[in-house]
Amino acid sequence: MNFLSLIESKRDGVALTDEEIAFLVREFTAGRMADCQMSAFLMAVVFRGLSRAETRALTLAMRDSGEVLTWPAEDRPVVDKHSTGGVGDKVSMPLAPLLACLGFRVPMISGRGLGITGGTLDKLESIPGLTTALAPRRIVGQVQSLGVAMAGQTETMVPADKKLYALRDVTGTVPSVPLITASILSKKLAEGIGALVLDVKFGTAAFMATEAQARELADALVALAGECGLKTAALLSDMSTPLGRTAGNWLEVKEAVECLAGRGPADLRALVIECAAQLLQLTGRTQGVETARRQAAACLDSGAPLQRWESMLTAQGADLASYRRLLEGGPRAPVVIDVRADRSGQIMRCDAKVVGQVVRDLGGGRLTPDATIDVRVGVDEISKPGETVAEGGVLCRVHASDGERARRAAERLRNGFEIV
Ligand code: URA
Repeated sequence: MNFLSLIESKRDGVALTDEEIAFLVREFTAGRMADCQMSAFLMAVVFRGLSRAETRALTLAMRDSGEVLTWPAEDRPVVDKHSTGGVGDKVSMPLAPLLACLGFRVPMISGRGLGITGGTLDKLESIPGLTTALAPRRIVGQVQSLGVAMAGQTETMVPADKKLYALRDVTGTVPSVPLITASILSKKLAEGIGALVLDVKFGTAAFMATEAQARELADALVALAGECGLKTAALLSDMSTPLGRTAGNWLEVKEAVECLAGRGPADLRALVIECAAQLLQLTGRTQGVETARRQAAACLDSGAPLQRWESMLTAQGADLASYRRLLEGGPRAPVVIDVRADRSGQIMRCDAKVVGQVVRDLGGGRLTPDATIDVRVGVDEISKPGETVAEGGVLCRVHASDGERARRAAERLRNGFEIV
């Protein structure tokens, strides 16, 4: 086998065998295939696509490029959730401890934010002392004892995805359903889980702009996961408006804690409960999705997931006293200003893309993967479509590092709202 003939085959629309795909992944991960050749291969995939069998071979080869977690046999199913990402999407934080309290083991391996899409790791790291850099053995140990760990992808897990994703990011080869499918599922399969719920977003701030595109990706993910022995359900959810009423790392942690306390915004709570209900169904723990929803809601309201969350924070090194002081204290950002409505009426639009861009530009997100972020900044008290506002009423609040940035952000945010 040689790289050039495999690239040419894909360029000409010829299907590759499992061995050929495994060869490409192995050689590229080991540094024996040049980036320029892999880039050409990826671009050929963008235009020619991959068959189901090829996508499966790619997914499994990527999974096997590194360590795969293994779990002691016992009653508690090992499960996870994956979201394709959005603005204000803090579902993982209340969901993971909720699932642990519902009798699951949850090795939640998450990513960082890039661009306007927030990342669970950045949000968690706004908690003083907390680490998300857990070695695979520590993830397994913590999940066995507490039921939950929330960590970052380690160097030894799915290294092929890390290298491929970095190359796709700079070669215009991200938007390809088979490449996205393989990237997402290889990481989930490496967790050794038995069931997965996917939250596939569509809308202005989502990776997939339309519901039809999101459905295509969801169908591909569910079908391939099933072929790989992973029970999977997918939700399609709207990301044209932010989830909940906050966007920005620390502000989202606070809102996630509200949800864990049985309060918080209705859309966030509904999505958390729906993800849990789907996993209860998939693993046969509950008969009927309505019963599953009730069970998940009752568990959330019991206070047990909030306690489990705090146990998890402690296990991952958080300084709980400082964290609680921050939760109870005022804003962490030096400047907070209101964004006010210039007329009365009903809110028709609160554009998640605008909110995401503003949070990123306030310093809460990254334009390059290694940029540092300001966890204190963001937007809260966000009014949602369907709500009414009086002239001069608050549409949202900006948390910024200085007055000038706050004022610029407020101006842009006002344009993200449409009032009729
Ligand atoms: N998220 C991933 O993990 N991989 C992709 O390719 C796209 C989104």
